[in-house]
Amino acid sequence: MTDIAGGAGVMDGAPQSIREYRMYIGGEWVDARSGATFESTNPYSGEVWASAPDGAQADVDAAVAAARTAFRSGPWSEMTGAQRAARMRALAEILVRDAELLGEVETRDNGKLLREMSGQTAYLPEWYYYFAGLADKLEGEAIPSDRPNFFAYTRHEPVGVVGAIIPWNSPLLLLTWKLAPGLAAGCTFVVKPSDYTPISALEFAKRFEEAGFPSGVFNVVTGYGPSVGKALTAHPGVSKVAFTGSTATGIDVGRAALGNLTRFSLELGGKSAQLVFEDADLDAAASGVIAGVFAATGQTCIAGSRLLVHDSVHDDLVRRIVERARTIKLGDPLLADTEMGPVANRAQFDRVVGFLDEAASAGATVACGGSQHPELGGLFVQPTVVTDVQPDMRIAREEIFGPVLSVMRFGTEDEAIAMANDSAYGLAGGVWTQNVHRAHRVAHRLEAGTVWINAYRIVAPNVPFGGVKMSGLGRESGIQAVREYTETKAVWVELSGQTRDPFTLG
Ligand code: NAD
Repeated sequence: MTDIAGGAGVMDGAPQSIREYRMYIGGEWVDARSGATFESTNPYSGEVWASAPDGAQADVDAAVAAARTAFRSGPWSEMTGAQRAARMRALAEILVRDAELLGEVETRDNGKLLREMSGQTAYLPEWYYYFAGLADKLEGEAIPSDRPNFFAYTRHEPVGVVGAIIPWNSPLLLLTWKLAPGLAAGCTFVVKPSDYTPISALEFAKRFEEAGFPSGVFNVVTGYGPSVGKALTAHPGVSKVAFTGSTATGIDVGRAALGNLTRFSLELGGKSAQLVFEDADLDAAASGVIAGVFAATGQTCIAGSRLLVHDSVHDDLVRRIVERARTIKLGDPLLADTEMGPVANRAQFDRVVGFLDEAASAGATVACGGSQHPELGGLFVQPTVVTDVQPDMRIAREEIFGPVLSVMRFGTEDEAIAMANDSAYGLAGGVWTQNVHRAHRVAHRLEAGTVWINAYRIVAPNVPFGGVKMSGLGRESGIQAVREYTETKAVWVELSGQTRDPFTLG
C-alpha cells in the first residue's frame, strides 16, 4: 500500500470513493487556477474513480515558467551528466518498487489488462537505466579547421523545456520514451497526460519527487487537449514538443509548434500489415497475428490490423485465428486470467462498432465477432476477424484502434509488398516466412519504421522506434534519441592571438 499523490488517500483494493488529485507544478501539488476539476472513469466498471484539476493557459504558463527556471538556474542546470544519471537510477529503483501499483492505476484509467499495464510499468526502469548510461556520454567533436589559426569544437546542449503530450493507451511507457532521453540530455519537462488517463502521470510525479530531482524539472498539467494541450504546444517558452497520439491531432500540434519554430517529434497512428507467406510456420503466425491485434484490445499504435496472407494458406490461417479468437477470455482487466478488456471509452467504442457495421454493409465477411459482446455489454467489443476485405474499404485503410482484423489475400511477393505499402501510414509491419532471403528482402522493402520477422510487438530501450509517412516524425528509444533533445553548438577558437582584418570572412 503506497500513498497516492496529492495527499488524497491511499491506493488499496477496489475504489471506494473518488480520489481527488492535484497537479504538480514547480515542486508543489496544486489545484487548477480556476479551481475546476474533471473526472476519470474506470472503463470496466463505468465508475468515476478519481478526479484531477482541469488546467488551462494560466496553469501551463506557471508550469512552463517553473520548468524554464529549473532549466536556466538552480541545481539541475549545474548538474553533470553523471549527477543527472544518479537521479535517474534512483527513479528507476522507485519504479521497480511501485511497478504493480502504477500498473493498477493505468488499468483503472484505461481498462487495459493489468498484466499488460503492470508488464509495461515493470519495464519502465530499463529506459531510465539505459539513458542514465548515456547522460555522461554526450560528447562533442573537435573539428580540424581548414584555416591554420582556428580550431572548432561542438557541444550537444539540452534544448530546454520539453512539452510532452501523451495519449491514453500506454501513458507511462510513452511518457518514459520522452522523459528518459530528455533527462539524460539535461532538459526539463511539462507533461500533459490524456484527459481519459490523467492519474498515472500524477502518481509518477510523486515518485519523481521522491527520487530527489530538483523542483521544476518535471511538471504535470492535467486537462483537455484543446485547452492544456494547445497552450503547451503553442507556448513560446517550450523548446521542443514531444507528442504521441493520433495523426489528426499530431498535424495540429506540428502546425502550432511551427508558429514559434519550436522543434517537434510526432509518434502517430498506424495501419500496420502482417504478411504471411506460404512457407510460414502457421501456428507461430496465428499466435503473432492474435498478439498483434487482440492484445491490449487492439488499442496500440502498432496493432497489426491488416493481415495479408498468401492464397494457398489463407483458409488454414484464418481458421486457426478464428478458433483462437473465439476462445479469448474477455472480462475484468484486473484479473490475472483475463485476456481482453473493454475498449477505453465510449467514443472509442462507438468508433469501433461503426467500422464493423460499415464493413458488413460494404460486402466484407465477418468470420467471427462483429459487434458488442452479447453477455458483457458495456464497452466490450468481440474479437473480430473480417475476411474478403478489399483494399479500398475504410476498414482496410483507417486506423480502428480496436480488436478488429482485416484480412486480404495476395498471390505473389511483389503483390504483398505493394498491398502493405498501399497505406497512408508506416509505423510497423510483420513478416512471417521461414525463408531467410525472403524475410530480409521483404523487411527492406516495407515502408515502416519497425519490421518484426517471425515476431510481433517487441520494443526495447536500445532499439529506435517511430514511423514513416503519416505515422510520424522522429524516433524514440535507441542511442540517437538523446540527440532529439539536444542542440548542436559550434564553438570557434582563434589560436594566433593576432588582430584580424574586419572586412574579410574567416
Ligand atoms: P489523441 O490525438 O486524441 O490525443 C493525444 C493527446 O493529445 C491527448 O493528451 C490529448 O488530450 C492531446 N490533444 C488533443 N487535442 C490537442 C491539441 N489540439 N493540441 C495539443 N494536444 C491535444 O490520441 P489518443 O486517442 O489519446 O491516442 C490514440 C492515438 O495515439 C492513436 O492514433 C494511436 O495510434 C496513437 N499512438 C501512437 C503511438 C506511437 O508511438 N506512434 C503510441 C501510442 C498511441
